This record gives sequence, C-alpha cells and structure tokens, in this order.
Amino acid sequence: MADICIGCHLSTSDGYAAMGRRAVEIGANTFAFFTRNPRGGNAKPLDPDDVAELRRIMGEKDFGPLVAHAPYTMNLCSSTERTVEFARTAMADDLRRMEELPGNYYNFHPGSHVKQGVDRGIELICEGLNQALFEGQHTTVLLETMAGKGTEVGRSFEELARILDGVRLDSYMGVCLDTCHVNDAGYDVAGDLDGVLDEFDRVIGLDRLKALHVNDSKNPCGSHKDRHEKIGEGTLGLDAFRAVVTNPRTRTLPMILETPNDLAGYKKEISLLRGIAASVEA
Ligand code: FE
Ligand code: FE
Ligand code: ZN
Repeated sequence: MADICIGCHLSTSDGYAAMGRRAVEIGANTFAFFTRNPRGGNAKPLDPDDVAELRRIMGEKDFGPLVAHAPYTMNLCSSTERTVEFARTAMADDLRRMEELPGNYYNFHPGSHVKQGVDRGIELICEGLNQALFEGQHTTVLLETMAGKGTEVGRSFEELARILDGVRLDSYMGVCLDTCHVNDAGYDVAGDLDGVLDEFDRVIGLDRLKALHVNDSKNPCGSHKDRHEKIGEGTLGLDAFRAVVTNPRTRTLPMILETPNDLAGYKKEISLLRGIAASVEA
C-alpha cells in the first residue's frame, strides 16, 4: 500500500521551490501555503522558473496534491460590500494563478455571514464561487469544514451541502475536513470516525472529501471554539489520529498539519503519523 500523503503549512516568503525543498527536509510529500498576503493588496505574480522547479521537486519526490489556502480575511459573505468585492476578486485571481500549478487544491473558509443569517450567507458564497470558477480550470476548490465560531458558515455538513448545491460548476468543488473544526462543531471525530464519515457520506457524499486538516483541539466536542493543539496533546488524543491515518476512507487523502509547531515539531508529527500508518500496513 502507498505511504500516506502528509505535510504542514509552509511560508511562501522564499518562493515556491523553497517550500518544496523545505517539505522534503521535514519528510513531507504535500504542503499548504497561503495564496496571498492576508492583509490584502495584490498577490505577487508567480515566477515561472520558481514554479517549474517546485513542480520538478514534486515529481521527483512523488508528492500528492498541494492544498493551497486562501487568506483568512477573504469573506465571500461579509455584510460589507467592499469586503465581498475583495473576496471575489482575490478568489478569481488566485484561481488564475493556480493554473501555473495545475492539479492541486485551493481551500477556503466559506465565510462569516455577520448577522445577515445563514441563508443569505450561503447565497453570497454561491454567487462568489459562480463568479470565480471557470470552465476548464485545473484546480479543485475546497470548502473547509468550520468550527462554528461566531457566524461562521460551514459549521455543519448540511450547510456545506447547500453551498455545493448552489454552485454551477460543482465538478470543480470538494471539501477539506479539519479534524479540530469538526470536533468543535459537534461531530465526535475522536470517538467515532466511521460514524462521522457515514454522516458526511449521507449528507455530502464521500466522493467530495478531497483533503484533511489534521489538528488536535484544545476544546471539547461541540465547543465552537477553533483552537488547534499538537497531535495527541488535545481533546482528540493520539487514538483519533491513529484512526485517521489507517481508516481506508481517509488514509489516502492529503493531510495537512496546522498544529502549533515550528518546522522541527512538524517533522516529528509527520514521522509519528507515518510510523503509525506503516505499522498497520505491515
Ligand atoms: Fe483553514
Ligand atoms: Fe484548517
Ligand atoms: Zn482552525
């Protein structure tokens, strides 16, 4: 059986090829990165040589798909028109730039409806996606499962399903399941991963599940908090991650660590989880 595909969030500050090299150094074969500065403004144009070098590294080291992350400040369903406008422009621009790195994922937080209500929120998110997605694109856009902090949309599988229902080019859409977020949203991912996956399948369809954010949580199930913890040191515990890296329905997906760590810490978590996955295969 193939090795798991796992990595962490990396900084773009030294360019794309540097992220690939750093990933290899810490034993990763995928990674996440922010597509632009979260403070807004224009994104740097991609340097074609830098991107080509990353693609070479990814091929040589047999990387799985990358899971790019839109900036947290991008809110397609804000109550402020300027914020919505920025989100729409940023997403469309990100998807055009992602074409330089075809075949990867672009994950984003559906948004916060800021007292407009979840129905209006979902409507705005769908409008934004329908503007940004284009026929023939080579990126799959992932909705992230959210903890349900404040007025976050995407706190339940039902809300994600309603967004997917409203997107015209939905063959370019999928879901990224964040283990900390679904726990905080009230799904017992630690106690009953199979039950949560069955529920996901019933409401959304497991064919939509494309990637995982692998995080422990500082808070109990249903707390709606969204505070990540190191693997095995939170309320989910190591057994939860043993299940994630060995379950046939999740072990083949790209897994991104967003735990509070430096690179050395990520390297340790990657080798820990690879070790567990390998021990079960044998
Ligand atoms: Fe996220
Ligand atoms: Fe996440
Ligand atoms: Zn989070």
